[in-house]
Amino acid sequence: MHGALRKQFLEKTSEVIDKSNFILGDELENFEKYFAHFCGVKFCLGVANGLDALVLILRALGLQAGDEVIVPSNTFIATWLAVSQVGAIPIPVEPDFSTYNIDPDKIKAKINSRTKAIIAVHLYGQVAEMTAINKIAAEHNLLVIEDAAQSHGARYDGRRCGGLAHAAAFSFYPGKNLGALGDGGAITTNDPSLFEKLKKLRNYGSSQKYHHDEQGMNSRLDELQAAYLNIKLEHLSDWSAHRQLLANAYLKNLEGVRELHLPQIARNSESVWHLFVIRTQRRDELQKYLQSRSIATLIHYPIPPHESGAYKSLAVSQSYNLSETSAAAKEVLSLPIGPHISVDDVEYVCLAIKDFFKK
Ligand SMILES: *Cc1c(COP(=O)(O)O)cnc(C)c1O
Repeated sequence: MHGALRKQFLEKTSEVIDKSNFILGDELENFEKYFAHFCGVKFCLGVANGLDALVLILRALGLQAGDEVIVPSNTFIATWLAVSQVGAIPIPVEPDFSTYNIDPDKIKAKINSRTKAIIAVHLYGQVAEMTAINKIAAEHNLLVIEDAAQSHGARYDGRRCGGLAHAAAFSFYPGKNLGALGDGGAITTNDPSLFEKLKKLRNYGSSQKYHHDEQGMNSRLDELQAAYLNIKLEHLSDWSAHRQLLANAYLKNLEGVRELHLPQIARNSESVWHLFVIRTQRRDELQKYLQSRSIATLIHYPIPPHESGAYKSLAVSQSYNLSETSAAAKEVLSLPIGPHISVDDVEYVCLAIKDFFKK
């Protein structure tokens, strides 16, 4: 996907070197403006990565030690780590396994006097059930944060993610739908005072050099990465449309294959297909078979956060019952998808999958 952009990247790199302004310059300012426009929000701030984006939001919203934050049980561990970094406790809730997004009906049982926020992850490219989540949050006076690291441009009720809650965190890790040539992240919000606070927090708690109003972080999106993202953002809508085309081809070709669970998109939601995740009890066998036919697949994620070493002690103290999450982790498989894949490739993969299940 980068071959066609290489010349532009190199020209921009020279330009940034010649300007010799590497931090908080024009490229970042432009990117923040363009990405806010893309998401349909008032404000965007470039930060160092997606994890920092979540941590900064939680800090700016005043989350602190002992607070509880509801998170999906089946997310990339960064969602949980952000909560832990501000001293709060991640409280996992299992998803609706037809969409893999957090099940709003299961959130209520986890709310108590210590609950302060919900992080809604738009997993695999599909926006979570934001209307139901925001309604529960309003009833219990909770904050809502979008983890949009996998869903740049995805829509819910026609509106793009990033502006569907108090604030949203994006990642530009190279493998995401919009990726930098290194690490990067962003925060979007429509709240002007939250924006001003975050702007300081990402820059040592400072808005004026050497005046430090708060104990901030150093978490900025640098000029080179912002420049590369400005080039790539122009192609994002085309890339998302291509992913949709590939997803349609998978759905059409794999329809009716027994023992295989295909991804479902909720009524209000429009996915940008960060991943195309199927589910089968014969996952490991299928993965091996596809590898033998030169088809690479991945697993998102093989070890759910509550089973990882990082959360062993919390798992004991909270005695989680997340058996469905644990079962799904043994059955999910991500098929090839992205701007570098063709519809012919997808048809080849589908033939191989059908051959496997015929055996
Ligand atoms: C990638 C990802 C993150 C973290 O982003 P980084 O830029 O890698 O720090 C957070 N949440 C989810 C759901 C992700 O997929």
